[in-house]
Amino acid sequence: MNENLLQFIWQHKYLLENKLISSQGKTIEVIKPGLLNRDSGPDFFNALIIIDNTKWAGNVEVHINSSDWRKHGHQNDDAYHNVILHLVWHHDEVIFNQQNEEIPTLEMKHLVQTETLEKYKVLLLKKSIIACEPIFTLPDPEILWMWIDRLSTERLEKKHLQIQMHLTNTASHWEEVFFKQLAICFGQKTNANPFELLTANLSWNFVQKYFQQHLSFQALFIGFAGFLNHPLANNYNLTLQKEYAYLSKKHGLQKLDVLAWKFGKTRPANFPTLRLVQFAELIYSKHHFFQTLLNCKTYVELVSLFELTSQQKIDIGDLHPKGKESHFEPISLSKQFIESILINVAIPMVFSYGKYTQQEFLCNRAQEWLHQLPAESNHIITLWKTLGITCKKANETQAMIQLKNYYCDQNKCLQCAIGNQILKPKKVLQY
Ligand code: SF4
Repeated sequence: MNENLLQFIWQHKYLLENKLISSQGKTIEVIKPGLLNRDSGPDFFNALIIIDNTKWAGNVEVHINSSDWRKHGHQNDDAYHNVILHLVWHHDEVIFNQQNEEIPTLEMKHLVQTETLEKYKVLLLKKSIIACEPIFTLPDPEILWMWIDRLSTERLEKKHLQIQMHLTNTASHWEEVFFKQLAICFGQKTNANPFELLTANLSWNFVQKYFQQHLSFQALFIGFAGFLNHPLANNYNLTLQKEYAYLSKKHGLQKLDVLAWKFGKTRPANFPTLRLVQFAELIYSKHHFFQTLLNCKTYVELVSLFELTSQQKIDIGDLHPKGKESHFEPISLSKQFIESILINVAIPMVFSYGKYTQQEFLCNRAQEWLHQLPAESNHIITLWKTLGITCKKANETQAMIQLKNYYCDQNKCLQCAIGNQILKPKKVLQY
């Protein structure tokens, strides 16, 4: 037994009986269980209960044993002077408040359904990646959709907080933050670090100086990344080498250690060299990029903002640190990659800007776009599919990622709508 489960049962009124009798033999009628408090102080604020025909308004404290009250020193703490009910699993000691009056106590061990306890044990045991898998029950569709909606907003709110942190580090420069976030997205998991290092050295303000000079722009990105070292480079890359030699001298630029980039088992279409050229190309083609994003009103405009129209192909074999055979890849971005940028960077940035500037229509627009984007495909989404939750749109996949990462992985089953459904007794009492 733990206090969290007792709180949960009290909060949701999942008790076996509605005729409650305190350990002092008095009748207890619950009008309001109170508001759960996750900070310091009593566990529930502003409860309303009737004890033997007298109405009481105040706080409720929850413990495993009633003697925990004394062990935690609540008898000397003013924060607990308005506790009107002590909820305990086991009543092992009579407890008094600061006025030396006995605090009404409700012992819960005979009031909780065995099935609830058994199922809670399964959740705590966590034998599957999704702990509830062995006893999984799909909530009612309406509850599930409300939960998905809330999780998807929660995920955006969480990203908003991260963006605000980056904003603090850039003196509220939205273009710079957007530029850096895009870079990390282009690095994906494997090369997020070198991409981050790149934009830490080549700032948005700095690269802006070269917006009219395509060759210099490419040379800056590819050269700083350390990919222009190959002695047998083709003509175009030799030109870039010379340009970078000039620019690095002019601006006192170092370059990254080429070993920072991971090629590993990635397919050529995901090589960091190709991603880097694509990133440079995308940035080059968009002046006031973030502002343009904010001006997008429709989903079609949003997608087209990230399309690269260049027909150019680059030889990623020639740019490979070990000098591989020529292999040409188009610079254009795949539909799937653009969707990933939209989900992970563009939409959260618009949402965050809307919150920051209190322009609610931008937050709504960002959320609508998520509803229009197709579902993502990854191992988390597959996991939910095996349990019967099939996502069709990106707001749903984002919600299910949030659920897995911030509820399942952090044992927050008691705060989860699915957990609630699983632990809910067949018959819920009205009190
Ligand atoms: S948080 Fe919810 S979905 Fe995840 S394991 Fe717990 S009950 Fe299941």
